[in-house]
Amino acid sequence: MSKSTLGVLLLLLGCVSAFSQQPPPDLAGAPQRGDPAGQAAAERTPTGTLRQIIPGHYVYSTTTFNSGVIVTSEGVVVLDALNSDAVARAQREAIASTIRQPVRILVSSTFHNQYSRGNVAYADVLKIGHENYRTDLLGLMTRENVSAEEQQARLPNQTFRDRMTLHLGGKEIQVLYVGRAHTRGDSIIFVPQDRIVYLSELFFANQFLFINDGYGLDWLRALDGVEALGADIFVPGHGPIPADPRETRQELRRFRQILVDVRDAVRNEIARGATEDQAVAAIQWPQYEKMQGYNAQRETAVRRLYQQLTGKLP
Ligand SMILES: [Zn+2]
Repeated sequence: MSKSTLGVLLLLLGCVSAFSQQPPPDLAGAPQRGDPAGQAAAERTPTGTLRQIIPGHYVYSTTTFNSGVIVTSEGVVVLDALNSDAVARAQREAIASTIRQPVRILVSSTFHNQYSRGNVAYADVLKIGHENYRTDLLGLMTRENVSAEEQQARLPNQTFRDRMTLHLGGKEIQVLYVGRAHTRGDSIIFVPQDRIVYLSELFFANQFLFINDGYGLDWLRALDGVEALGADIFVPGHGPIPADPRETRQELRRFRQILVDVRDAVRNEIARGATEDQAVAAIQWPQYEKMQGYNAQRETAVRRLYQQLTGKLP
């Protein structure tokens, strides 16, 4: 490549970077644009870290929340915008400075605020979500009296029912619905050629499950569907990713075991004739009591499973 061609290319990349983001005012300490693209494995920003998992696949993490970042030569697909405009803009800044590709598509899995408030920073991007995600996000925003303007900015432009396949830069990116799980409208993203699947809140790594709006029995079936995809790497929506990302397989098995243990304990109580409240009083899982989320979610997990196993949950 000649020097002049390189110069034009760098100029173009600069334009793309400038175009694809609205720099937040608090970017002191953000990575410099001069970093060689793709070389930095981890980039610090004021609110999160963008880390490469394998070439072309990154995760942007703030405390316990993970957002997936899939890179192609024709732009980036993001899974989950996280919890605020500021966090989402910091993520886009990190993507612009490290990856140097514009974000083309935002896929949203969970309608919960912690994963959908950041949608407002993606006004220039096609937003995709499951049809139940759209319904439940709209319901949540209506209940919370969110302004019409913000509602419009957070809702998806496109919904789907079973699956959607994106072809971007020669990469096949499958957006899949594997049934009810953490909510009734979760999406996962599978990239077959790289054997990696992004699970959003279907997968809490090294944490107890959060199941306020979840369906434990369906969740187990959904994870079986995930297992059948043939992926090697399973990116959690919460919790750390091991240095060797293939170890996420064992992490996912451990998480699935929590669901199994929750289901079985509740099923046993029902078999003994316990009421829902009696089941709540009786059931503890000492093996999980030190896990993040256990104290907050133990009772909810019992109730949701009790209601589902006894047919009270539609
Ligand atoms: Zn959630």
